[in-house]
Amino acid sequence: MLERYSLPEMKRLWSPEHRFQKWLELEVLACEAWADLGRIPPEAVREIRERARFDVGRIAEIEAVTRHDVIAFVSCVAENVGDAGKYLHLGLTSYDIVDTALSLLMRDALDIILQAVDGLRLLLADQARQYQDLPMVGRTHGVHAEPISLGLKFALWHAEMGRARERLEQARRMIGVGRLSGAVGTYAHLDPYVENYVCRRVGLIPAKVSTQVLQRDRHADYLAALAVTAGSLEKFATEIRHLQRTEVLEAEEGFAAGQKGSSAMPHKRNPITCERISGLARVLRGNGVAAMENISLWHERDITHSSVERIIIPDSTTLLHYMIVQFTEVLRQLQIYPEHMKQNLARTHGLIFSQRLLLALVAKGLSREEAYALVQRQAHRNWPDGDFLAALKADPAIGQYLPADEIDALCDARHYLDRMDYIFWRAGLGPAPVQYWESMIEVVAAGQGHAQAVAKGELLYEGKAKQMYLTSNPDLVWVSYKDEATAFDGLKKDTISGKGALNNRMAAHFFTLLKAAGIPTHFVRLLSPNEMLVKRVEIIPLEVIVRNIAAGSLSKRLGIEEGQALLQPAVEFCYKNDDLHDPLVTEDQIIALGWADATRLQALRSQALDINEVLRSYLDTKNLILVDFKLEFGTHKGMLILADEISPDTCRFWDRETHEKLDKDRFRRDLGGLIPAYEEVWRRISGE
Ligand code: C5P
Repeated sequence: MLERYSLPEMKRLWSPEHRFQKWLELEVLACEAWADLGRIPPEAVREIRERARFDVGRIAEIEAVTRHDVIAFVSCVAENVGDAGKYLHLGLTSYDIVDTALSLLMRDALDIILQAVDGLRLLLADQARQYQDLPMVGRTHGVHAEPISLGLKFALWHAEMGRARERLEQARRMIGVGRLSGAVGTYAHLDPYVENYVCRRVGLIPAKVSTQVLQRDRHADYLAALAVTAGSLEKFATEIRHLQRTEVLEAEEGFAAGQKGSSAMPHKRNPITCERISGLARVLRGNGVAAMENISLWHERDITHSSVERIIIPDSTTLLHYMIVQFTEVLRQLQIYPEHMKQNLARTHGLIFSQRLLLALVAKGLSREEAYALVQRQAHRNWPDGDFLAALKADPAIGQYLPADEIDALCDARHYLDRMDYIFWRAGLGPAPVQYWESMIEVVAAGQGHAQAVAKGELLYEGKAKQMYLTSNPDLVWVSYKDEATAFDGLKKDTISGKGALNNRMAAHFFTLLKAAGIPTHFVRLLSPNEMLVKRVEIIPLEVIVRNIAAGSLSKRLGIEEGQALLQPAVEFCYKNDDLHDPLVTEDQIIALGWADATRLQALRSQALDINEVLRSYLDTKNLILVDFKLEFGTHKGMLILADEISPDTCRFWDRETHEKLDKDRFRRDLGGLIPAYEEVWRRISGE
């Protein structure tokens, strides 16, 4: 490990003292386990606990003779323990200790790295937001393509580091195992009790099967995760190096007071930290390959892996940690040159707007081929030194479709940043794009008008709130919303005139909103004030409830005050069965009973949370709090889609200021004024 590229946390972690400390901890735990089994007297274990210590210098002395580091270590500890020392290392082989300790160290090293990744992600999130709208040219093949924003680059890196985090966590699980299974993994002179005792106490899981060693696919996986993360850092560093090229100079590594760039050329400011990061990533990749080479050991082990690992594991973890910390600092100190970005955007005299111009010509009635040819002709004629935009404006073949002022209006880099809000929301860096969804409601609703006519058929099913009829199209069902209100599994019943029509209208609105947000639902179109056409689904017999705020049955069941905000949305599942009062079921029960497999369950959960995100942020702009709601899903031609309804019958809506209930709780709790409350919700969401 090179001092130059090591930070104190990792240096301490990989120091011989720390490694021996781990060995000692495991040796003592093994003695405790043996004591439980009656193989070591309890007084001896007490003595070992009290006296066991080592001296790195003394271990080295003994190792010079024994040429075996673990024997040297055990002898050194035994010297200090005295008589009870004879019980040390009972039934163990060296690698019972060495490998288990290595897992511990590798796990702890990842914790240090993960902390650094989190720091980098926080900064990337800040920088992404700060430069979300700073336009710069996007380049493909190194050639100017179309405008992007600097923040978009940072958002991309932020997402990539999120994946790095997942990958490293997976590697942490993969290496979170130990083994004390003896010389060839058979426990011939050991009891599995000892392995369990020791591993569980240090937070490792005993490997299911081992030889004299843990299998090296685990370590290879770990080093691959490190190498891929290093590869991402190299990508970021390479980007900055490119942006710092004198011809580009859109960004630049910070240059400290007193720093010098070249012994010969006083003017130099070089991206040396990014270059170092690029270089070190190569070492990590190489180490990744070495770790793969280690997988194939002979029979129940050979020791070819050991020398390799003494280098690559401390080195790769230390280097990656150093790289992340260094890159974080580069980013913090990064000099940004917006003026140069602007100049570079203008460098091609508008070539970067060629696609937008092409599409504008197509919108004016030209075929795509004609429009392409017209734009390309001027683009190539004026490459590399001409003025593309001037030539375009002077070209009569183009001018007859696009006057000069329209061309100018089209060539605006800001247009290319219109979707940043959307991307940033999806990347977890910004608020939900409610305006976009709202604008899409009209577009989607317009499409719903073009559907084919269907004829109403026989009654298929009648529920508490709706009747479903077959139609002339076997894929579609005719739904009629009823005015009946029921609660407490039908114990409380009433007819509330106008409720069916209100729910029909609101459900249609919410389904259209969800479609606009990319979430598939069964809704096809409205048929009449209280009827809608929907896709026929095979219903999944589960109610999926999402809660943002404690209320209703959650408050009752757990004694939690209604109105308490939950730290995060909570999904729960109920079994759809009136006779049993739709009882709560756990996810394990759903899988165990075969109602849904793990993949389907995960899809239900994630769709329900997506729906919550859309509805909640949308309703927030209407001064409504989405407290909780119930969803039902079904499959249509194999695809999972949202079915049933979304309305104040199935959701709890509260006014944001007064917390007045604007949902079916008015009926359940005899508060009165149900129709005015539903109408108020409709008024707010429809703007009518
Ligand atoms: O009663 P509980 O608090 O469990 O209801 C949670 C949410 O699910 C509420 O918004 C309620 O209106 C809805 N729900 C429903 N149909 C059910 C059960 C609950 O619409 N059968």
